[in-house]
Amino acid sequence: MTNRSIKSILLVFGATGFSFNIGNVIHEFGHAVADRMSGIPLSNIHVIIHPFFSPHMNIEGGIPESMIGWPDAAGPLANVAFGLLIFAILWKKRTPFTFPLLLWGPLACVQEGIGQIMTLSDHGSDAARMIAAGFPEPLLIVISILLILIGISLFGLIFPIAGISMDTPFFRRLGIITGGMIPYGLLTLLICVLASPNQQDVSRSYNIIGGFAIIAVVVAAVYSPVRWLVKRFQIRTDFQAKWSHGICSVGLMAVIVVLQLLFLN
Ligand SMILES: [Zn+2]
Repeated sequence: MTNRSIKSILLVFGATGFSFNIGNVIHEFGHAVADRMSGIPLSNIHVIIHPFFSPHMNIEGGIPESMIGWPDAAGPLANVAFGLLIFAILWKKRTPFTFPLLLWGPLACVQEGIGQIMTLSDHGSDAARMIAAGFPEPLLIVISILLILIGISLFGLIFPIAGISMDTPFFRRLGIITGGMIPYGLLTLLICVLASPNQQDVSRSYNIIGGFAIIAVVVAAVYSPVRWLVKRFQIRTDFQAKWSHGICSVGLMAVIVVLQLLFLN
């Protein structure tokens, strides 16, 4: 493995941890803000987000039947909307330094898209509650698939910023993307096995690892079709990751992890 690949892997690792965590925080706060706007007193809303365990919210006294629906949609919506907004704002200023923030939008699209489809019939999930409130299931599936497709295309556009050039062979780019993303999932698994009292957190870590593995394979494969888009719009792709970029990205991840441990746990 070349020195250049190791720098890209470090950048992708920190960016994955950062964007995944900021997405979780904004998702839960999306629910909380919608609950507050629906009339639930602030003192009854408890958001509990651990950087490595399943994030969740407790509403004291539960949510009144009449309100179920839109506060459930607000979590996934907030994650996707803010992620894409930051993407749109930073696209012109894209450098390996802004890569962790750029990764948030695509990851939010894919994560929420896969998340809704996989939990359609899970009791108490956002998707199941939206459907119970009357949102048409086929429409939710179509929106989720669209989100996954948008996320994957955007991933293809931004990974060159992490120093993975358009000409890198498939298995090499797969190696760099899995090398960056999977270790974050393994870190989550390790911490859950060692520290979580809840078996569900451990199974969630396996889902995270599986999800990142699928994303890595699809994103590495999507480089070829994205190439014509890049050529057509003359998008710059000659970025090179440096140690400073990787360290900055891991630093951002550390900041969001520590903030959650201090204030949201
Ligand atoms: Zn949610």
